[in-house]
Amino acid sequence: MIAIFLGAPGVGKGTQAAAAAESQGWTHLSTGDLLRQEVGAGTDLGLKAKEYMDRGDLVPDDVMVGMVATRVESMSADEVLLLDGFPRTLAQAEALHEAAPEGAIGLAVCFTASDETLVERLLGRGRTDDTREVVEHRLTVYRETTEPLVDFYKDLGMLREINAEREIKIIQSDTVEIIQAGLAHTNPQGANG
Ligand code: AMP
Repeated sequence: MIAIFLGAPGVGKGTQAAAAAESQGWTHLSTGDLLRQEVGAGTDLGLKAKEYMDRGDLVPDDVMVGMVATRVESMSADEVLLLDGFPRTLAQAEALHEAAPEGAIGLAVCFTASDETLVERLLGRGRTDDTREVVEHRLTVYRETTEPLVDFYKDLGMLREINAEREIKIIQSDTVEIIQAGLAHTNPQGANG
């Protein structure tokens, strides 16, 4: 099953996806991490992506879909894949539906926090794409381009929301519970592989 982690930059979805994957033996796939690895290795893709990332813009859809599609197409039936930072556009969401095995997309977990909290957290991370100007641009891009996905998944009946202003442990147990409930729903026999 695929669980999509949605939410603004700085909301903590990457931390939550990593913790859930670690504690449950699930797979964490972060497109931001994959891109940072390409940048670090100085590949052509990394050099191209870095320009967008440094500005706080989205890397083009064809690049992103290429990174994720092969991985998703080859997922096994009992695998739980936490998709962190993908999809971020409607075109990516549609491409994911095409690439994923039939019925594999189980749910989209949306983490929410106020803008003040987000900016505070982003400026506290010290990443090179976390300067105030870039942070504000990334939030605008999120509102304009990615937030519409919340309604997209709501209309499909797949959306679950998590208030990410609370204590980290509580957010963590909510996240795991919601995904386990999604698994029970897709595997009515109770297999939680
Ligand atoms: P993240 O670590 O998820 O905040 O991603 C860091 C940066 O990588 C983003 O600001 C984008 O420039 C780029 N990025 C990551 N995932 C995607 C995606 N699905 N679509 C487009 N750009 C992405």
